[in-house]
Amino acid sequence: MKKYSTIILSIVLILIITSANAQDILTASEKSGFQRYTSHVELIDFLKKIQAASTEMKLGFYGKTIEGRKIPYAVFSRPSITQPWEAMVSGKTIAMLVANVHGGERTLRESNLMLIRELATPGTEANRLLDDLVIIMVPTINPDGFENKPRPTRGNSQGVDMNRDYMKLEQPALVQYVQNIMLKWHPHIFVDGHNGGSYPYNVSYQAPSHAAPDQRLTELSDRELFPFIDKKMEESGYRSFYYSGGNERAWRVGGSDPRIGRNYGGFLNTFGILFESPGGQDPEIGAKSGMVAYLAVLQWTAQNADKVMMYVNRARRETIEMGDAAEGEVPVAMTYEAEAFKVNYEYNAAPRGERERDMKKVTGGDILKKPVITKARPRPYAYILEAKAHKAVKLLRKHGITVEVLLKDTEIPVSVYVMESVSRREEYDHPAAVTVKLEDTVVDTVLTFPGGTYVIPTGQMMGRVAAHLLEPETNDNVIRWNTMDAILPRMYTEEQIQRMRRYRSNFKPGLPIIPIYKLMRPTPLSTIILN
Ligand SMILES: [Zn+2]
Repeated sequence: MKKYSTIILSIVLILIITSANAQDILTASEKSGFQRYTSHVELIDFLKKIQAASTEMKLGFYGKTIEGRKIPYAVFSRPSITQPWEAMVSGKTIAMLVANVHGGERTLRESNLMLIRELATPGTEANRLLDDLVIIMVPTINPDGFENKPRPTRGNSQGVDMNRDYMKLEQPALVQYVQNIMLKWHPHIFVDGHNGGSYPYNVSYQAPSHAAPDQRLTELSDRELFPFIDKKMEESGYRSFYYSGGNERAWRVGGSDPRIGRNYGGFLNTFGILFESPGGQDPEIGAKSGMVAYLAVLQWTAQNADKVMMYVNRARRETIEMGDAAEGEVPVAMTYEAEAFKVNYEYNAAPRGERERDMKKVTGGDILKKPVITKARPRPYAYILEAKAHKAVKLLRKHGITVEVLLKDTEIPVSVYVMESVSRREEYDHPAAVTVKLEDTVVDTVLTFPGGTYVIPTGQMMGRVAAHLLEPETNDNVIRWNTMDAILPRMYTEEQIQRMRRYRSNFKPGLPIIPIYKLMRPTPLSTIILN
């Protein structure tokens, strides 16, 4: 009998321990009074404790860093689900909050953890949102940079900025994030959390700003989402505004390259939102205001679930339709100009390095973020690559782009580009990024492509990414990122031509054709999908 009562007592004790309320579990940063950040080991421990206290959170690990750290994510849903297909058939909007792709940018990583606790606590405003949303939380996508000693780094353990790797897809931690999270769960909206922006704001935001994605998603963010965030922040005593800073005339924003997470989101036909927590804030205020802003995105998404899904589904559908019909243009160069709407903001007018701030108010200022296309090329039905372009194909397939292969020798009418010059220069962390200059007019010809040639139709869900990667003049493409180095045409200088003629008097260099061929009209081809 005594033995049994011991067992019963043990069971009761276990039940008490495992049923700790999520609301009582604090992050290491909170326990320290925000005097330090939660370490990676403590973060995993925190997530495991919250998971043990919740039936609506599924903790998983989607990858591993170069230094061997497991990278966690949490799926919140009611009823509980674990697989992407379950999220799709639930018919709910899928929202994702991410932080810490830059290892040293840690404020919103803490906000993300605190919000995870709110989501796991029954009765909270966050938890109620699980009636309408499936929520994916990814608090740290660069733990190696975060844990770097003596201080964290922007890049990963190899010093590479992973928020410039979305198109090149070279760094393991980022490749796993894109392939195992973004391209599996297909969130309708996500927020990528950073540290940046300027005083006096607690959180700064921006939507995709490249000209190629569906502009209506960015416009809806400007018109409805950001004012909603401002309102929620104000109710909690915080302030928010666009990233990143301004002067007496205008407000400037972040870059437009698709290699940046927020813009890549636009190319994936999703609401890709950037958050930046300006530095110099009290860490507690930074973390708490970040949580309010993250929560506001979830609240707005839940209140506008049908609209968010309609915008995203339309962008996805139109991507396929315009590719199938070979309609429209692929922007290859762009700039920013002022939006039609005006903004009110505050900025620090003190010269750089001054200790005292000199805050100035601007009413009706310009915001320089409207993408304007300065050069575009017609969208083809498909791009064609020779079998020897297998390195480029490997990159396309990393993005989940469907690649087909010709089954037999086929005559195909194609447009080809003629190269004027090629140059290599260091860009970000990459030693020899390749830029080609093309002649403006294309050559139309009919070529016989052998069986085994690659065909990449633009009429697919990833069509915007495919077109950007395969147009030679864009900022992020298969040529820029060195996958075509071995097969680009050779350019001869006048001096080299003269030297060649000493040996072969009739030497004439061939036309320097870029080996990316464009099939302009919808054409049935005998192909199989590459698996
Ligand atoms: Zn950053």
